[in-house]
Amino acid sequence: MRYVDTRGVVEEPVEFTRAVVEGLAPGGGLFVPERVPELSLDEICGLAELPYAERAARVYRAFEPDLTDEQLATITAGAYGDNFDTADICPVTALPDDIYMLELWHGPTSAFKDMALLCLPRFFSVSAAELRTRGELDDTHMILVATSGDTGKAALEGFRDVDGVSIGVMYPDGGVSDIQFKQMATQRGNNVTVWGVRGNFDDCQTGAKNVFNDEAFATELHERFHVALSSANSINWGRLMPQIVYYISAYAKLVADGRVARGDAIDVCVPTGNFGNILAAYYAQRMGTPIRRLLCASNENRVLTDFINTGTYDISEREFVKTPSPSMDILVSSNLERQLFELTGRNAEAIVGWMADLREKQGFRVDRDTFAKMRELYAADSVDNDTCLATIREAFEACGYLMDPHTAVAYKVAENLREDGVPVVVASTAHWAKFGNNVYRALHGITLAEELPAEVAALTGCELNRLIANETGADNIPAGLAELDELPIRFTEVIDGKADAIRSAVSEFLGR
Ligand SMILES: *Cc1c(COP(=O)(O)O)cnc(C)c1O
Repeated sequence: MRYVDTRGVVEEPVEFTRAVVEGLAPGGGLFVPERVPELSLDEICGLAELPYAERAARVYRAFEPDLTDEQLATITAGAYGDNFDTADICPVTALPDDIYMLELWHGPTSAFKDMALLCLPRFFSVSAAELRTRGELDDTHMILVATSGDTGKAALEGFRDVDGVSIGVMYPDGGVSDIQFKQMATQRGNNVTVWGVRGNFDDCQTGAKNVFNDEAFATELHERFHVALSSANSINWGRLMPQIVYYISAYAKLVADGRVARGDAIDVCVPTGNFGNILAAYYAQRMGTPIRRLLCASNENRVLTDFINTGTYDISEREFVKTPSPSMDILVSSNLERQLFELTGRNAEAIVGWMADLREKQGFRVDRDTFAKMRELYAADSVDNDTCLATIREAFEACGYLMDPHTAVAYKVAENLREDGVPVVVASTAHWAKFGNNVYRALHGITLAEELPAEVAALTGCELNRLIANETGADNIPAGLAELDELPIRFTEVIDGKADAIRSAVSEFLGR
């Protein structure tokens, strides 16, 4: 099966390998499969009998990539194995009132980005090798990532020691939590590096973009090192496809466990930022999973909630708000473009127009028909910062389940929007201990505006997590987070955010 692009610029559809290595289509559009394959209810429910890695391989095969079954089996076995702390990979925990937490944080970095970023590097490495064999590609790759925290660590872990690829991650120096800093600075692997950048996340991202767009630098890297730069961002189809699997898999599991009658529909509620995770749930539905509605949960950056409720996407007067769920702090949700492409019956012309409006007028409005289709499928709500923290505490008091702030946003929205009698699967996207600081605030009723008590503020992230675990009886701090204070710090370099400084750092790393 081949891939078309959402802006209709790519005339000849490309194979999976090409879509993965290029990431973004030449005109700025996103790659989507020519058609969405369907699985029968039998095939879906049958997945429950397989190990997760094989479930993933089955779903990938349905998309007919230009990779062999053996290649797919190797990729999924490497991605979803004993690097997770449970053989279930992403278990479903039942809470009262038919709410089911789909726990996507049992992987090496304790956040859901592992689910995709353990497969993407393997897709990338195998795809690039295929293209080199076919004489369609010369260079190896260096992945350059700008991160506000979560993505950087998951990408490092995913690309660690993968053949034919190296990775450099930039984070805002002083702008990430102690846990996030140590997760990145202690990263193992021979093909990895990490830089702190003087400035904020925007500076990192702008610096990275300028380096990506610098053709002279690309030529220099090609000539000196036979290396091309690439990114691992969430618009890559190789990152989206792995996310479809866990929604299909969760449904199969609920049926196998007798929680949902075979064929009965569920709702799915997803804490949303770049729209990748919830879009994967949409594709799971298109593939045949009985999903009734998609509940889109936002924090105070509620551009998506407003869009789904009004049909107008408007960022002209919107300020970027800091929230306790930073991985959802975003104004432009890139993957929405794929959803609009599907809802318009794959009308590339409409997409080009709306994306131009977004660039030039900071907003766009979809037509009546597209809006109606969106309303059939989606419901949306947002949660403010205080409510988010209150929800963590209430859920813990009511059911003894400790959740991170991103998950809490979705849990609250699921409570707000659910309808009686329909089970809701809530995507739980991070382990609470990744965001211990805000979880401590939640449990102690300390608002974001207030200072933490001095003795608490003085603790390392690991020590704070142990304190929370003692207070709550939570006994499940993941090993990868619990041991961070003991690991040697490998990367301490801080560089300027300007393109010059990033170029030098990249050259120095490649020439090492
Ligand atoms: C990235 C992230 C999200 C948002 O997912 P999108 O696919 O960008 O919508 C939610 N929660 C956590 C913990 C994340 O890291």
